[in-house]
Order: sequence, then structure tokens, then C-alpha cells
Amino acid sequence: MRCPFCGADDSKVIDSRLSAEGDAIRRRRSCVECNERFTTYETAELSLPRLVKRDQSRAVFNEDKLRSGFLKALEKRPVSIDSIDTAVKGIVRRLVASGEREVDSRLVGDWVMDALRELDEVAYVRFASVYRSFQDVNAFREEIERMENKAEQKGDD
Ligand SMILES: [Zn+2]
Repeated sequence: MRCPFCGADDSKVIDSRLSAEGDAIRRRRSCVECNERFTTYETAELSLPRLVKRDQSRAVFNEDKLRSGFLKALEKRPVSIDSIDTAVKGIVRRLVASGEREVDSRLVGDWVMDALRELDEVAYVRFASVYRSFQDVNAFREEIERMENKAEQKGDD
């Protein structure tokens, strides 16, 4: 850590402790050149990245919007609210963990598709047919066949 007083490149940590709230580490440092002391705080970066849409416009990630998207895709399907919440939280966690300031909205769309595929294949196809706008009937049929093969494999267990 550079010294804010003399600009020296190095300082040594003389004390390190957790903040009262437990969400930051406070370090007392001493400059190796001028011996001035200063404090630094280390906190986790938990801000969500912004989404970059196809037209390059930016949007703030909206968890409620994501949840209502799941609810819509899973309307009248046998999937519990708890499972949906877990899927939504999983996507939020992936966004936070990415550490990026901006994320392509298509990447989030892919995560939603992965989550839907796990939750309910009918909802997955419903969503994918709109989201991915299957380029032709063949692509759609291939997807159905892939699912059928998977179902058969499950049956073998
Ligand atoms: Zn210094």
C-alpha cells in the first residue's frame, strides 16, 4: 500500500482487526520511509454489475424482475416458490461473484435457462423458444430430442 504522506511504495501493517459489524478489516499501517501511520479498510465488493443489453444500453439488475420472469415461465408448473427463490438467489450470487462492473444480459439469460432446465423442462422449452427464438423448426426439434434422450437415460437408472 502506497504511503499517502510521502508516496513511498511500501508500508507495513502494524495492527489488523475486524470492524464491530464484522464486515470490514481495519489495518493500521506504518510507512517504511517516513514512518507516518495511516489506516486502511478492506471490505467485500458486493455491488451488482449492470447489465449490457443487446442494443448496448445499460440497465440496473433487478432481482424482482428476475423473480417475476421465473414465476411467469413456471406458471401452472409443479415447482415450489422455495425452488424459484433458490434459483433467483443462485443467479444473484453468480452476478456478485463475477466481480464485474458490467455483464452481458445474454449471459444472465443463459444462467436463467440453465436454472429453468433444472427446475422444469417444459418451462425451459417455453422460455427458450421465446428467449433464444429458435432459428428454425429443426433447432427446436433437436432440443426436444435432446430432452427425450435425457428422460430415457433417467429411466434407465
Ligand atoms: Zn511515507
